[in-house]
Amino acid sequence: MLMAPVCQPPTLAPVRSPVMLLATGLLTASVLCVPTASSAVPAGCPTPKPGYVHRAPRALGPTGAPTPEKTVALTFDDGPSRFTPRILAVLRRFGVRATFFETGLHVSEHPGLTRRVVAEGHLLGNHTWHHEYPENVKGGWSAAYLEHELRSTGRLQRRLAGRATCFMRPPGGNKSPALLPTAHALGMSVVMWSVGTDDWDGPPQHSRSWVHTIVRNAAVGLQQRHPIVLLHDGKASHEPGSVVSSYRGNTVAALPRIIEMYQRAGYTFVGLDGLSGLPEPAPSGVATP
Ligand SMILES: [Zn+2]
Repeated sequence: MLMAPVCQPPTLAPVRSPVMLLATGLLTASVLCVPTASSAVPAGCPTPKPGYVHRAPRALGPTGAPTPEKTVALTFDDGPSRFTPRILAVLRRFGVRATFFETGLHVSEHPGLTRRVVAEGHLLGNHTWHHEYPENVKGGWSAAYLEHELRSTGRLQRRLAGRATCFMRPPGGNKSPALLPTAHALGMSVVMWSVGTDDWDGPPQHSRSWVHTIVRNAAVGLQQRHPIVLLHDGKASHEPGSVVSSYRGNTVAALPRIIEMYQRAGYTFVGLDGLSGLPEPAPSGVATP
């Protein structure tokens, strides 16, 4: 059963980015209760975007209308992990807002990191609980299977973040006939990507050449006006560590160069919800759990 809609504006921290200030107004408006066919969508999520999302949202201008400027969405999958704080530190240094598609299993192992991702102003996405590919699930990705995976992860994220998770990414970019209708019924847009960096495929230690490869792969998005870049702050695939390493230090090392590359090219960094900029850091002495 789907929950009855409870429409409430999200709680938002003070912001320093004028873009985020403007976008905030639109977001607040977007969650007003309007009884439509989508009223089955659970609390706090706007109507899901149709189909699979392959492009970053547009930035918002002074009137709240989308602008023609270029936008890029940096997305981090499979965390949280021990590398997440280092990713967050880079994003904070540059004032870049990103989206983190987390697995429920890793959230349950590192709830403090999920709280920190949210406290620092980023957007959470749902990447299922177990990160199983359809071929490894008896009966495949049925509606019942997906609903359970998404609900359990979303429930935990909501408890930690205080708001609904409105975006999901299927593990491995896999699809099934049940995927779109199930995610949409739960209020989630289904997000793919337009730029794969293959950062997950690197060696289990620092490698200058692999960092260069990640940056070069990310540069493909400069040919697009609204790229979504796929990166990883953890490992959730089920291959052994000897096949797919959990080391994400090369992603951390590549990230400043990727950000600077898109900044030089005039892109605005947005979360999948279209908001950009980060809130002011918490005053010193205030612990972030
Ligand atoms: Zn994944």
